[in-house]
Amino acid sequence: MTERTAVDGRKLHPESLAMGYGYVPRLSEGAIKSPIFQTSTFVFESAADGKRFFEIANGKREPRPGEPVGLVYSRLNNPDLEILEDRLAMWEDADRALTFSSGMAAIVTTMFTFVRPGDAILHSAPVYGGTDHVLNLSLPEFDVMPVEFRAGMTAPEIEAKLESEAPGRRVGMIFVETPANPTNDLIDIDLMSMLATKLGSADRRPPVVVDNTFLGPVFQRPLDHGADLSVYSATKYLGGHSDLIAGAIVGRHDAVDPVAVTRTYFGTMADPWTGWLLMRSLETLSLRMNREADTARIVAAYLERHDKVRRVMYLGLLKPGDRDHETYRRQCLGPGAMVSFEIEGGEEEAFRFLDSLTLIKLAVSLGGTESLAEHPATMTHAGVDPAERAATGVTEGLVRLSIGVEHPDDLIADIEAALKLV
Ligand SMILES: *Cc1c(COP(=O)(O)O)cnc(C)c1O
Repeated sequence: MTERTAVDGRKLHPESLAMGYGYVPRLSEGAIKSPIFQTSTFVFESAADGKRFFEIANGKREPRPGEPVGLVYSRLNNPDLEILEDRLAMWEDADRALTFSSGMAAIVTTMFTFVRPGDAILHSAPVYGGTDHVLNLSLPEFDVMPVEFRAGMTAPEIEAKLESEAPGRRVGMIFVETPANPTNDLIDIDLMSMLATKLGSADRRPPVVVDNTFLGPVFQRPLDHGADLSVYSATKYLGGHSDLIAGAIVGRHDAVDPVAVTRTYFGTMADPWTGWLLMRSLETLSLRMNREADTARIVAAYLERHDKVRRVMYLGLLKPGDRDHETYRRQCLGPGAMVSFEIEGGEEEAFRFLDSLTLIKLAVSLGGTESLAEHPATMTHAGVDPAERAATGVTEGLVRLSIGVEHPDDLIADIEAALKLV
């Protein structure tokens, strides 16, 4: 890397490096921004170069000091993805990141890298609907048994569940989503790391994989708490403008490198144009996430006082003594901008509210500049078993908000007007 990542020995923050890190203008006619390398393949200057590039790309050997690592083919590597990945890794002080064509592509490619037939996969619940499908419907077809646990369960309780539901099986992976969608339940990542060490063998510790979509990387850094990989739906906050689908993973070389090999052969990488859009998005990541969290605090406080609202699930409202407060204090750097609340009544009242909003759009997805509202029980979580929904607090009156960058007064006015019509 030619640009400086420190000034006077002081390390620069990701916010300051997001605009230029990993990119050398001299190599692109001085353009201040990376061009979009919309190309499938790269021309070798000699057959010997082609041979060397393949040796390195295939992991046959490490590049010698100063040896140029050439580009081969855009399924293996592409400048837009490489620069983007360097920047993503920087946000979590990690060795390496990989980008994917979707969050699900990131999750599935990671699972298929580490999990084998005969394994159990230990996972938190609830999780994103797509992840739930892969865990409970796809993986069992390959003889991988999902064993779920909930926020607040202790290590002995989780171990007992594993023992009774998947006796004798190796634990291939611990997969957690925290905060959980849509309830904002928190899972203690330090506890997961401890459990992985305990459940592993002398030569293999199951990787702890954390879906960091809701808070990361600005408000949660799983690797600091012993996780091996952060995974993202980059469609959400990383992309941040509801205009692309992508995924990412971030971690140390020993965890990321094997997934890179799987990605090369599964072909689940992102494309150059999406990579370029994500680089643009990362420049404002901290600005957006901080502003959205500030506004979400105001919205959550307003909802908590409203007499048509039964309860509000927002990390910023956790108080000492609440189940997840201690985990929040240790693990999260901010509350994020996902606010769920239960309206007095059920589906009818929730629908009346959603249909009465004018500024806030009625749509699934989250993490974009515009605020969105949805009804988890009939939309994002419609596929979840009703008993499971009830057990995890996804009730008929629950509404989920993703707070955007609009003026807070306008969002409150919209919510107030819609609640009046309920
Ligand atoms: C959206 C989402 C996913 C899936 O990501 P896609 O980009 O839609 O494939 C996974 N996990 C969480 C928490 C999500 O919100």
